[in-house]
Amino acid sequence: MKKKIRFFQSVNFKIAIAFILLLLISIEIIGAYFIRELEKNTITDFENLTNSQVETLAKSLTAELENQTDDRNEVNLNLRKVLDDFVTNDTLEVRVVDDRGLVRATTDLTKQSDVGKKNDLKVLNDFSSSRKEEIIDSDRHRVWRNIEPITSSTGTAAIGVLYVKSDIERRYQDVNDIALIFFTASLLAGAVSIVVAVLIARSITQPIDEMKEQALRIARGDYTGKVKVYGRDELGQLAETFNALSVQIEETQDAMEAERNRLDSVLSHMNDGVIATDRRGNVIIINEMAMNLLEVESESVLGQSILQLLDIEEDYTLRKLLEDPGEILIDWSQKEGQHQLILKVDFSMIRRESGFISGLVCVLHDVTEQEKNEREQREFVSNVSHELRTPLTSMRSYIEALSDGAWENPEIAPTFLKVTLEETDRMIRMINDLLNLSRMDSGNTHLQTEYVNFNELVNFVLDRFDMIVQNEDESEKKYVIKREFTTRALWVEIDTDKMIQVLDNIMNNAIKYSPDGGTITCSLIDTHKHVIFSVKDQGLGIPKKDMNKIFDRFYRVDKARSRAQGGSGLGLAISREVIKAHGGDIWATSEEGRGSSFYISLPYEPYDEEWWE
Ligand code: ADP
Repeated sequence: MKKKIRFFQSVNFKIAIAFILLLLISIEIIGAYFIRELEKNTITDFENLTNSQVETLAKSLTAELENQTDDRNEVNLNLRKVLDDFVTNDTLEVRVVDDRGLVRATTDLTKQSDVGKKNDLKVLNDFSSSRKEEIIDSDRHRVWRNIEPITSSTGTAAIGVLYVKSDIERRYQDVNDIALIFFTASLLAGAVSIVVAVLIARSITQPIDEMKEQALRIARGDYTGKVKVYGRDELGQLAETFNALSVQIEETQDAMEAERNRLDSVLSHMNDGVIATDRRGNVIIINEMAMNLLEVESESVLGQSILQLLDIEEDYTLRKLLEDPGEILIDWSQKEGQHQLILKVDFSMIRRESGFISGLVCVLHDVTEQEKNEREQREFVSNVSHELRTPLTSMRSYIEALSDGAWENPEIAPTFLKVTLEETDRMIRMINDLLNLSRMDSGNTHLQTEYVNFNELVNFVLDRFDMIVQNEDESEKKYVIKREFTTRALWVEIDTDKMIQVLDNIMNNAIKYSPDGGTITCSLIDTHKHVIFSVKDQGLGIPKKDMNKIFDRFYRVDKARSRAQGGSGLGLAISREVIKAHGGDIWATSEEGRGSSFYISLPYEPYDEEWWE
């Protein structure tokens, strides 16, 4: 994320370079103009001065040169003297040549032998006009040369020529020296300006750098730092604004975080499953409950299509859900290997203010229990109607036969009447059973509990069954009851009447579904916290698939056989409700063809024998 800026790409460098270039350009322009003007002035001044001096000298030589009579040598010496007076540091040579072309005097010491001889400088052959020019001499030096005719005192004719050679190179040299000084000074200024420029640039870029660092920290979620405010200039104001912004971002972030936490906790504590998807129907949020209902992990589900997740690809498309979001029922109650569930799924669209659809929210509601209850209710009503219709139909046919004349037949009439009476009894029993169950369902029955010695109670019930088998005639079924009881007296808090009903019922079943002469083993034991009573028969047993249904209302393994024995299929259902109301448990085990065992366990707190005494 953080890219390293190369030095020559940095603002630092750019500001420094701009600064230095500006400085150098201005120095160079000023310098060039200045040097040129300086050179022009220096050279022109020099030339003008030399020219005027040479003109004056030429005039002052007229008298000496017109002097023809005296000794020529002396005249020449005089001329030399005048010339010597003229010589300055800049003068290279001054020479006078007369109209006959003879050298009359020269300041050049090496050429004194030329005096009085023919002039060898060709430029002096023509001395009619005055000439001033810059030439390059044999040493490649620039030299200023004046050739000035010396006119007669009458002013009509040239009587000689004055030749002056001055060193102008030195003037150029002086200007060059100044230019060099200027150049050095500008280099120095450049160097100083680099330092100044870097310092100024740093003062600008350092706050910017700090703000950049702070921005990166904020991006990482660290709001602790502050940008230093260096002054009250624009950068200072920017830094202050930046700090205020950082505080604001932190507050907004905190608020958003709190909001998200709230939402998370609402979602995770909801009793309904919630799934949110993006526009394409892929899961982006799923809460704990939804994961539990669907038996999935959040990692495997995020990004998965909602249609796939709910296994409704065959019946629904995303377009259909988006166009007509609403409620659907997913029935997994028959599905193998999965949670056997019935889910109500409510779909709704997430729409932005602009109208853009950004996804779907679906709320999963577990309606398994509700649906199951409704189903059971329907089944129950149909069972009751069916159970009542059978005895009523058979009674109707007997009564019809009686009214058709059978009442007069003394052999048939009593039998018919006996059957109708039995059917009526059966219906009354069944209706009583149903009333009992319904009372327990609505919680209207209150147990009238008392502490009872359970051993004695069981013995009392079993004694009655022993009496029956002893008293009854030959036609009744025979059985033997075996008792395996603990010697300890087990005192439990129970509703005696209801408990007797349960024990009767289990014992009746054991006899009913046993072969003639079978042994029924009853045992009573106590565990640390429970009393367990079991009844084991040697009957036909219960198939495995029916095992967990026998406690349901009206459920009978073999309907015809049970009805023939006078059973309604409500006995075990009532027993279960009674035991549940006592806080106990009832269950059965069975080996098909060999017998079944029924168990009742009741809560029990062992007391010290002494406490009772
Ligand atoms: P029923 O009035 O039909 O006996 P119950 O609720 O008492 O109704 O029992 C339900 C069913 O459980 C019976 O129809 C029978 O098929 C089965 N059952 C109960 N006890 C036994 C047992 N000891 N041996 C075999 N099957 C039994």
